[in-house]
Amino acid sequence: MELKIPEYILSIKPYTPGKPIEELEREYKISGSIKLASNENPLGPSPKAQKAMKEAMGILNRYPDASGYYLTQKLAAKLGVRPETVVLGNGSDDVIGMLARALLQTGDEAVMTAPSFLMYEILVKSVGAAPIFVPLNKLAVDLDAMALAITEKTRMVFINNPNNPTGTFIKQGEFEAFLKKLPSSVTVVLDEAYIEFARDPDCLNGLSAIGENPPVAVLRTFSKVYGLAGIRIGYGIMPADMAGLLHRIRQPFNTSSLAQVGAAAALDDDAFLQQTLHLVETELIFLQTALNEMGVTSFPTQANFFLIDVKQDADRVFQKMLEEGVIIRSMVSYGYPQYVRVNVGTRQENIRFLKAFEKVMGKMSQEIGG
Ligand SMILES: *Cc1c(COP(=O)(O)O)cnc(C)c1O
Repeated sequence: MELKIPEYILSIKPYTPGKPIEELEREYKISGSIKLASNENPLGPSPKAQKAMKEAMGILNRYPDASGYYLTQKLAAKLGVRPETVVLGNGSDDVIGMLARALLQTGDEAVMTAPSFLMYEILVKSVGAAPIFVPLNKLAVDLDAMALAITEKTRMVFINNPNNPTGTFIKQGEFEAFLKKLPSSVTVVLDEAYIEFARDPDCLNGLSAIGENPPVAVLRTFSKVYGLAGIRIGYGIMPADMAGLLHRIRQPFNTSSLAQVGAAAALDDDAFLQQTLHLVETELIFLQTALNEMGVTSFPTQANFFLIDVKQDADRVFQKMLEEGVIIRSMVSYGYPQYVRVNVGTRQENIRFLKAFEKVMGKMSQEIGG
């Protein structure tokens, strides 16, 4: 091969996926392990979505509806927006990719936090644009610093609220003040993957901030609160002209029939939504109270996950927890060498996590103490 590969493609670090649970269990000779590492819904997929998808099996010989008509209409009605402003994606990752392809080119800059969701950097680089990183301030998005990072080359700003992996949130007023500082040539991508979990009444809700000057694109997903991460469906809400650009470049069948049907049914599953929100709220208190009683520092959160300060190498804590059959996320590669991120599980899973964590931390402090 004599491929002439663009430098900007070579600048992308390969994504290292975690091993499948079955593989880890074989490797560590454990069974019944639990995963609290990807902020998924521990209750499974919405039952209404499951039922609708089972019933839709018989149509899988047909291509999906390329316009996602029913889901788009339903979302628009539910959110109180025009259908022309909605773009469906194969996960919200797909919508980020479309935004990057439609709005960025070589030499452009996209401002994002450090750390931030890995896909922002990968997708920005994949079209030859440059990510510009602005550190978080005490785990929170620093909107003042982000506004200062805007240059003539900036075409996009990524903001995640509530923020992954820190769980912090932005207030409505702060965001509105931030928008006033931006030129109308900069698109604000407001990723609200966890917005349904936000409990603080002051938390920004992007839908009320959507405007055209500067343009704001809000991203949402069925992967978290609706429990549909595996079927891959998310969406963006943005000015209709921008949505039109994305429709020009997206794959016509970017969302599968099952995903469209499942997502539409999930939107009607209010009981499941309420059950999930209730679980997350009560289990967060359960987990953080227990950790506090162990003398362990964890951080407040508006999402379904939180950070824990393990006061030692987080990769080692991750590894030891894995050996106990509990999969969590080390924050070493996110720039927090002594933090781990854990998402809320069921009560049973959370008890198992706490027992394993106590054992691992006890062992490790003995090792450190000599
Ligand atoms: C989980 C997550 C998403 C959702 O991605 P999908 O492609 O919709 O599954 C988006 N942004 C952030 C920050 C996330 O953590």
